[in-house]
Amino acid sequence: MAVLIEAGFPVVVLDNFSNSDPSVISRLERITGKTIRCVRADLRDRVALIATLKAHGVTDVIHLAGLKAVGESVSQPIQYYGCNVQGTISLLEAMQETGISRLVFSSSATVYGDPHYLPLDEAHPTSATNPYGRSKLHIEEMLRDVARSAPDWHIVCLRYFNPVGAHPSALIGEEPSGIPNNLMPFVAQVAAGIRPELQIFGGDYPTPDGTGVRDYIHVMDLAEGHLAALRYLVDHPGWEAINLGTGVGYSVLEMVSAFEAASGRAIPCNRVSRRAGDIASCYANPERAQRLLNWHAKRGLEDMCRSTWAWQQERRSLS
Ligand code: UDP
Repeated sequence: MAVLIEAGFPVVVLDNFSNSDPSVISRLERITGKTIRCVRADLRDRVALIATLKAHGVTDVIHLAGLKAVGESVSQPIQYYGCNVQGTISLLEAMQETGISRLVFSSSATVYGDPHYLPLDEAHPTSATNPYGRSKLHIEEMLRDVARSAPDWHIVCLRYFNPVGAHPSALIGEEPSGIPNNLMPFVAQVAAGIRPELQIFGGDYPTPDGTGVRDYIHVMDLAEGHLAALRYLVDHPGWEAINLGTGVGYSVLEMVSAFEAASGRAIPCNRVSRRAGDIASCYANPERAQRLLNWHAKRGLEDMCRSTWAWQQERRSLS
């Protein structure tokens, strides 16, 4: 959002803060020096949604609202489909009602399922192995149908690879509640001494060092990808799916070494068995984003680790 505001977009936030802290808004105000308009509402509250879209004269929507923990989605599928799919339907109804037709949707590389080939391009077949992934896939397909139904819809689905890192101010970043599911926030907490060791899930994958390989992308690059998508949408009707990744994969061990170097802390590790549902390797072919959006990731692994570490240290004084 800071990237959008700095690019001159007048932004209004709608959030139910179910998985975020309202203090983020005041921190964003510190970063940008602007007052941020914010409405506390659930996406499924269509009345509040329509009122917000009308009151603020909204022209474009970036839809990032959704639950995203794979394990939780398996035990609570109704909640996941309700929030993610029903939330999107509610948004589409509200957009239709108010005549807004430009939408950037936050999708995920999870829609590729178990890769048949690498790097993953957007033509790779889609599939899902859990309710979270299936909700993203359902939404993408729904959006494609919507875009086919009338020529005035302009929709881009951005398929994120593994977002990591934090804003350079160290004022905003990922704040997992409870035990982090993802590698980077877990590693940061081990480096900070909050957790005793990292459990490395599996050491026998067919990768150079036996640990899982992922395409980690800096959140600032991701944010700039959204800005590029908004600009693209203006004169591109229809539906597109576009990867946001770097094209480079790093293993768990490479991530740990990079984080040790950035933080100056040792990260004790313990190899355990594979995590159910994990794949060996996943990385993007990012050419389509370059071609259509004129966007590519600029920040490297060192910046990803350094900004995560700065945020890890700063957030304790903020909370
Ligand atoms: N991983 C790990 N220990 C952890 C969390 C993750 O070894 O505590 C590994 C995981 O098996 C995968 C990689 O780190 O190979 C990235 O996992 P993450 O959950 O961040 O992303 P995803 O698997 O959803 O792409």
